[in-house]
Amino acid sequence: MKQLFINGQFTDASGGRAFSVLNPATEESIAEVAEADARDVERAVLGARKAVDEGKWASMGPSERSRLMFKAADLMEQKLDEFIQLETSNTGKTLIESKIELSLAVEVLRYYAGWASKHAGETLPSGPKAFLFTLKEPVGVVAAITPWNFPLLLAMWKVAPALATGNAIVHKPASLTPLTALRFAEVVVAAGFPEGVFNVVPGPGATVGAALVTHPGVDKVAFTGDTSTGREIMRSAADGLKKISLELGGKSPNIVFADADLDAAGRGALNAIFYNKGEVCAAGSRLLVEESVQDELVGRVAERAKKTAVGDPLDKNTRMGPVISKTQLQKVLSYIEAGKGEGARLAVGGDRPAHLSKGYFVNPTVFTGVRSSMKIAREEIFGPVLSILSFKDPADAMAKANETMYGLAAAVWTRDLKKAHRVARALKAGTVWINTYNLYDVALPFGGYKQSGFGRELGREALDLYTQTKSVWVDLS
Ligand code: NAP
Repeated sequence: MKQLFINGQFTDASGGRAFSVLNPATEESIAEVAEADARDVERAVLGARKAVDEGKWASMGPSERSRLMFKAADLMEQKLDEFIQLETSNTGKTLIESKIELSLAVEVLRYYAGWASKHAGETLPSGPKAFLFTLKEPVGVVAAITPWNFPLLLAMWKVAPALATGNAIVHKPASLTPLTALRFAEVVVAAGFPEGVFNVVPGPGATVGAALVTHPGVDKVAFTGDTSTGREIMRSAADGLKKISLELGGKSPNIVFADADLDAAGRGALNAIFYNKGEVCAAGSRLLVEESVQDELVGRVAERAKKTAVGDPLDKNTRMGPVISKTQLQKVLSYIEAGKGEGARLAVGGDRPAHLSKGYFVNPTVFTGVRSSMKIAREEIFGPVLSILSFKDPADAMAKANETMYGLAAAVWTRDLKKAHRVARALKAGTVWINTYNLYDVALPFGGYKQSGFGRELGREALDLYTQTKSVWVDLS
């Protein structure tokens, strides 16, 4: 039984309840995890409160915080293979996808460890009668609520900048994927962080998540997940006027002009939608192709998609594993039916792999002849389903690309430098890739326009989510 991690201790749930965590490739249980309830949230928030208000953590200097974070990064790196096996068994992502996720998590931890001693206030110009300066202070207790697609990486996007700036964290991982967060709690203990600084309370969003969002001891909610959950969190956090940052869904356009390197664009289009089985918030789920090269590009994409090795994610030859759960599988299949029903042409996939009798597998699926009004062009599927639309000219491409309530990411493929820059500016999205897709750098901020959320994770900007500015006026008259 995996226990909760509260106030520096692994502990049973107050209600004595537990839930099973499954491997989506085998449909079998791989762990029993203690299920937190509102009483455990209370214990965790009290511990975290104490850590930021009066504990060792509150009086610790930035270099010491930095040292602990670097140590945690080293310890995690030493156990990386264990983390990789755990993440692959729990999420169905391939070993290479887990390696990329977890190596990035270590990098994020190191990046913000460096910032701990560098994020500073400033001295402002003033006359001889005053000394004006600002301090950057932690916001306090942070509730970090995360989804199941990149379980530890998306937690680290919140935990690392929050630790660097002196906050304490209560983390609620997705119920489907709590294992690497609990493993990370062991690293936190081994690194020597004071008690209460980092807590993990797995349990249902509707109870544990909701209790965190409304708890008066929580100062900030950092959330990644579905847009509808984000709306609900924003409403519940309003009474306590909590600071919030929301990283939500997407329906990102990937635009290929006729003058692009079509071989690179074809490979990029596959990576954009099939990486991590399409369970990527920034997935390039709408491929917009200039009419004159549509047949050629569709041919390349379809041919490669058909050859994708779908199967056991622990096998190093596998290129795509199962989707996360039975519910998600049914959701993906129902979108495929909707696509067919609305008249889109199924070019590849649309079914489940015949050679796999167990597991939530679905073949890479490509629809052509998709129109913007169709459900598969409008709604986030969060699975390996690509919708291909065509456009006439740059104006038509921009209109179609921006015709969505989301604005998380977008890409443009062209050899024309001016066109690339113009299009990048016209796209209403928080990230724009030019001649590439799905690349992330710890220093480059990430977040949404429109209903893909607000607040920027990664980079220097994320530090602002976890600090507040105090202005100090010293009278010298
Ligand atoms: P979700 O259903 O919104 O769940 C996300 C987290 O919120 C889970 O930990 C969930 O707990 C919890 N939760 C659910 N209801 C809650 C409530 N009322 N109050 C507080 N917490 C609550 O999303 P998901 O299905 O796990 O993840 C897929 C979504 O995440 C997609 O829409 C995707 O686009 C988005 N996403 C966005 C980004 C980004 O950076 N923008 C990155 C990755 C994913 P349970 O697990 O117990 O339900």
